[in-house]
Amino acid sequence: MDLSPILNPLNDAQREAVTAPLGPVLVLAGAGSGKTRVLTHRIAWVIQAEGASPHGILAVTFTNKAAGEMRARVEQLLGIPGSALWIGTFHGIAHRLLRMHWREAGLVQGFQILDSEDQQRLIKKILRAAELDETRWVPRDVKWFINSNKDEGRRPQHLKDGNDPTRRQLIRLYAAYEETCARSGVVDFAELLLRAFELWRDNPGLLAHYRQRFRHVLVDEFQDTNAIQYAWMRLLAPTLAADAAPGAGSHPFVVGDDDQSIYRFRGARVANLQQFVRDYPQAKLFRLEQNYRSTGTILEAANGLIGHNAGRLGKKLWTQGARGEPIHLYTAFNERDEAEFVTHRIRERVAQGGLRREIAILYRSNAQSRVFEEAFLSARVPYRVYGGLRFFERAEIKDALAYLRLIANRNDDASFERVVNLPTRGLGAKSLDVLRAQAKGAGTSLWDAAGVLIGGGDALGGRAATALHGFMGLIERLAGDGATVALHEQVDQVLKGSGLIEHYKRDKAERGEARVENLDELVSAARGFTPEASDLAPLAAFLAHAALESGEGQADEWEDCVQMMTLHTAKGLEFPVVFMCGLEEGLFPHQRSSADLDGLEEERRLCYVGMTRAMRSLYLTHAEQRRLHGVDSYGQASRFVREIPQELIEEVRPRVQVSRPAVVGRFRPAEPAVAGVRLGARVRHGKFGDGVILNVEGNGAQARVQVSFERQGTKWLMVQYANLKPL
Ligand code: ATP
Ligand code: MG
Repeated sequence: MDLSPILNPLNDAQREAVTAPLGPVLVLAGAGSGKTRVLTHRIAWVIQAEGASPHGILAVTFTNKAAGEMRARVEQLLGIPGSALWIGTFHGIAHRLLRMHWREAGLVQGFQILDSEDQQRLIKKILRAAELDETRWVPRDVKWFINSNKDEGRRPQHLKDGNDPTRRQLIRLYAAYEETCARSGVVDFAELLLRAFELWRDNPGLLAHYRQRFRHVLVDEFQDTNAIQYAWMRLLAPTLAADAAPGAGSHPFVVGDDDQSIYRFRGARVANLQQFVRDYPQAKLFRLEQNYRSTGTILEAANGLIGHNAGRLGKKLWTQGARGEPIHLYTAFNERDEAEFVTHRIRERVAQGGLRREIAILYRSNAQSRVFEEAFLSARVPYRVYGGLRFFERAEIKDALAYLRLIANRNDDASFERVVNLPTRGLGAKSLDVLRAQAKGAGTSLWDAAGVLIGGGDALGGRAATALHGFMGLIERLAGDGATVALHEQVDQVLKGSGLIEHYKRDKAERGEARVENLDELVSAARGFTPEASDLAPLAAFLAHAALESGEGQADEWEDCVQMMTLHTAKGLEFPVVFMCGLEEGLFPHQRSSADLDGLEEERRLCYVGMTRAMRSLYLTHAEQRRLHGVDSYGQASRFVREIPQELIEEVRPRVQVSRPAVVGRFRPAEPAVAGVRLGARVRHGKFGDGVILNVEGNGAQARVQVSFERQGTKWLMVQYANLKPL
């Protein structure tokens, strides 16, 4: 048996980890040291050298993208189809288990997944039904209460109110929420994990089966597992005596880096690394110290930054690679200038033969992507947003998905409410109230309540009853027609049959057109969709995909395009060229997190993750003024910039000027700016005195100018409010 393809591409330390005797293994190592490579090769090793069955492998990755890459790699190493292995995210794997064992898990067969936005909407509904004030019971906070308890494995009945009325109410809301979810046959993300855990915990026969089957459980990015994920893994891999019989449990192989733990806010516990060593005292610990990803300069800069954190497990990282370029730092006037600069650099690189897909734009907050998107669109730079733009979260897509979900599960109340009167079919708010009251009174879903109401009595007006009848008939018809055709044809039928396409076509604005395009795109998405596991009906698999992977499969993956994503999404990935943008106090570190030390350290780890994505070139940018969510702020450069050894940084000068009045929107011609306010004009301001206009941006009410004042320095002002007098 030739093991060289598995072992040759590894250094000594990596090879030792890959070939470690069966038993618990922890690989603790810094960024870019080959942890993911080791985990992948370990899979190939146990199959090839230990004779493990591909069906006996359960590998957990952090994103679906990473799962796909791992599957492809194993395929290449072993020449077996990657689909034979269970490789996926915790959520994806939990979902798959629950689909197969819905009955034992206490779910309905066609259960649907609630994404975070659906979940919030449902919570709002519950608050309304309980007549609670949303300003006192903020839906987002209620959601956090529910999810964080689920992440810790706690159901409402486990919670004590400690005589605190607020807590008592929250627990009541959690219970009401659970009841509604059960009735509607929906589960949220946290529920997937908790349910999958309870499924095994409460069904010993099933657990025994899976312990027998999955002899190897491998977890990447272990530092970001939360309590329930860890507990779930522990069920599968109980601590074994050295002479335990085969089938008594599986061998855990986990890899992680405490410096890259960035999901504390979602309940991740970096302490799971230490817990692992306590729970598996016989665990073999491996450290990898050579970084293969980045230049010496990038690595040194990242190490310098993370050195400001306390309480690290501590690791050495070195590279044989070249010193490489310095870290480039650019100070922009504002967010547009920042985007222009990045665009400019990208074009330069592409002109020199560089590939766009080698370039990543990383940012702290999703909303930052929009300005880059605008700049890229007008400069015709193809780009792709990962995770952020969320194709599947756009309103029109959610409308279409609601139809599909209702077809898959009539009791899905959230979907029912979303589309029962979309397009308008004459069901007013009053009729809906009657429906809700009927459903609540009888403890049924809205669909069943509708069936009762149109079946007799005159609680609904004649017109509403007819409309409702029509709607139910439509859903049944679409379900029947769709049962015999391919998935994408079914989606197409639903779009047309539901009247959604017509509905959006009537919307003459540009938005309507874009929405129709998006709906068309949904048909393409369905056509290109291949279910990960064949044990699901295509529609169910597609809906799960839409909920689980929003954003990940959105655009032309094959096209050479710039990669845009949040720093969180970038974990585990690498790119030759990285732009980290918006390095300003308040934005990064984020205002919310910088108040307490733990929060600040987590932000710093996030910055470390971002920097260590870069292979050859790393650009850091920040803006003196930024408009985000419609609010202007004047941020100082992030402290993280100062924490990097300054000799590694080279400031980019001169600044690229925003020389033209930027156009708001893609195709709209620029309107003339306010009279007298033009580049180079001298103006007087009531407070700041006299100055010269350096820059003009935006139009009409949005117009802004940058003025260099003689005594007060340079400022950006809204023309509308600044009351500038031409001199
Ligand atoms: P992260 O902490 O960011 O997830 P990681 O520790 O998982 O990083 P990998 O992604 O596995 O690191 O590896 C980083 C890069 O180094 C990859 O491009 C990988 O192919 C390469 N690499 C890893 N080990 C070796 C090796 N022994 N020889 C050559 N290249 C290697
Ligand atoms: Mg990795």
